[in-house]
Formats: sequence, structure tokens, C-alpha cells
Amino acid sequence: MPKLMTRAEIDEFFARLKKHNPSPRTELEYTNPYTLLVAVALSAQATDKSVNKATASLFPKVDTPEKMLALGEAKLADAIKTIGLYRGKAKNVIALSRILVEQHGGEVPRDREALQALPGVGRKTANVVLNVAFGEPTIAVDTHIFRVSNRTGLAPGKDVVAVEEKLEKVVPDAYRLHAHHWLILHGRYTCVARKPLCPTCVVRDLCRFKEKTKEAELVKARVPVSKKSHHGRP
Ligand code: SF4
Repeated sequence: MPKLMTRAEIDEFFARLKKHNPSPRTELEYTNPYTLLVAVALSAQATDKSVNKATASLFPKVDTPEKMLALGEAKLADAIKTIGLYRGKAKNVIALSRILVEQHGGEVPRDREALQALPGVGRKTANVVLNVAFGEPTIAVDTHIFRVSNRTGLAPGKDVVAVEEKLEKVVPDAYRLHAHHWLILHGRYTCVARKPLCPTCVVRDLCRFKEKTKEAELVKARVPVSKKSHHGRP
């Protein structure tokens, strides 16, 4: 485990991520809390890009649970068949839409327990919906946040729940609302899994990762110099 970052370093870490991207957003396209919930459910083990591609023609026509039920499972499966695990996801989206209509008046509940009771909705999806749709300062730990938190010494933990609990403790209040997106975008574009872009990383001096990538390794791996680090702003 890397050495923990100090309080002052954590503050500086988020100040720099904020400076580079003051208003981070989810990269999933959505039009309301319901389409956000569906998009996040569809994004499990799939890229945001692949989900956006499939929902671009779906959401303009189908943006409520009632309309989703009217569409039906077979047509939904057909509309999202380019996304991995689409059959199971179509089944879950129809089932969760039915529960929203029957138990929540067709609305997405602003409640973690009620969200996690929906088919196919786990802790991560509930956290994203609470954060993005309702502005709650939750942090959904995905593979990117898990990696960044462990590598840097920000909030090391052996599993996603341990990392989430640690982040809850160490992220300063001023950065809580957007911490989720800053960390995801940092992990997706800079602190990537195989060859993190350490030479141009804005938090390099604060990060505790022992095996930081060297400039020569990036050149050898043919990472374009101009795209080395854009912190979620392609
Ligand atoms: S210095 Fe490297 S390992 Fe550390 S946060 Fe930046 S990209 Fe990740």
C-alpha cells in the first residue's frame, strides 16, 4: 500500500483537478433522472461511448418508465444490442421501469435503499444517480476511481467499498459534489491503467505511486505528446 496523502496534499490534489476542469460532467448522455438511471444501468461493463451511441435514437422517443413499458423488452433489446450483456440489461430496465410505475409514481426515487432495490441497480449505479441527478455528494467507486485512489495514496483500500468509505472520510467538503467526476476523468484520461501519463500529470508531485511512467516509456509506447494529459477535456 502506498503512503497516505496528507490533508494538505489532498486539498491541493482536488484544487488542481478543479482548476483543470471546474465543472466536470458525466460523459453519459441523458435528459432526465430516468434516462440517467437507464444509461448508468446500461453502462455496466460497457463504455459510455457505446451506451451513448445506442441511446441517441432511443431516449428522444423513450424517456419515461411508462414509454419504456410500452416499447417492451424485445424492442428495447433490439435498440441496445450493440451494448454488451444487452439481453439481461433489457430485462432489468423493463423490470425496473415497472417498479417505478407501480411503486414510485413513475419517478426515480431520491433514496439509496429504494434505488438499490431496483433490478440491476447496485451501489455504484445508485451513487451515480444520487450524485448526478440529485446533487448529493456521493462517490461511486468504479475501476478508474479504485485505481487512482490506490495508486496515489488518496484513499487506498482492498475493495471498492473500503475505498468508498475512505474517500467519504478524506475528500474535503468543498470538493465532495464533483469528486466522483474529477477522479473518474483523471483515471480515464491521465492515470490510465497500463501506461499512466505521469510526466504531464498535474498531481504528479503529490502522488505516492512508486512506478510512475517515464517520458521515454510514453515515447516508446507512441503516446502522442499533445494528448498526454487533458484531464477529461478532450
Ligand atoms: S503521477 Fe502517474 S500514477 Fe500518479 S496520479 Fe498522476 S498519472 Fe496517476
